Amino acid sequence: MQGMTHDIRRFASQAALTLAVGTLCALRAAAQSATGDPKATEQWTPVPPVVAPGAAIGSPPSDAIILFDGQNLDEWVSTRDHSPARWKIGHGMMTVDKTLGNIETKRLFRNYQLHLEWCVPKDITGEGQLRGNSGLFLASTGAGDLGYEVQILDSWKNTTYVNGQAASIYKQAAPLANAMRKPGEWQVYDVVWTAPTFEADGTFKDPAYVTVFHNGVLVQNHFRLEGETVYIGKPAYRPYERAAIKLQAHGDPSAPISFRNIWVREIADAP
Ligand code: MG
Repeated sequence: MQGMTHDIRRFASQAALTLAVGTLCALRAAAQSATGDPKATEQWTPVPPVVAPGAAIGSPPSDAIILFDGQNLDEWVSTRDHSPARWKIGHGMMTVDKTLGNIETKRLFRNYQLHLEWCVPKDITGEGQLRGNSGLFLASTGAGDLGYEVQILDSWKNTTYVNGQAASIYKQAAPLANAMRKPGEWQVYDVVWTAPTFEADGTFKDPAYVTVFHNGVLVQNHFRLEGETVYIGKPAYRPYERAAIKLQAHGDPSAPISFRNIWVREIADAP
């Protein structure tokens, strides 16, 4: 019996070897059939910058701009009057103050990668759009809710219109999946934002695109936006160069949500 097993093993390893040699020969033949200098298609510069990744996935890499690390709101102002942001900070997070309205970054951005974590209170109440409503405006193009909104909402067993649930591009694109964790647990958004472009005279040129991961799940895949977010009617583009990132203080009567660990990496315009 042992001898037979040995034979089978030897046969299997010989078969594997024959297959590997065959594959190698096929690859070499394919390579030899191409003429010309392989170096002609090698690119050596510019060398990508070295970026030290964060200690854990989600912690900021070495070239990130830290927008909120739990300590202070130095990077944020009130959207209403651009005075220092005054949402409450405690336990390493900031909590929306619905009486004070939206807040936005002091810095202005074009294209970027963004990481943001948010949490709906465990004892959240309400339903539909009135349950943990907030929002991440990828570009704030003016007062109030003007801009491009990725919806923030408690979508754990909470039915609403699908292009208004969590991780939707509000009123434009439902998420590809509902990757929501329960209320009381932290949610993670990782976003790649490509800003729209406009001619010097303000004429619309190229649309905005967005890719979003919700808790590591792809929920928006290079979605082409139709314009700024609007509550009623059709979206449209309005020219802007650089814009703040804005967080929404929605007026729904449910308990306010919280944010932590927000950072951004700017991305150069495509050539
Ligand atoms: Mg909202």
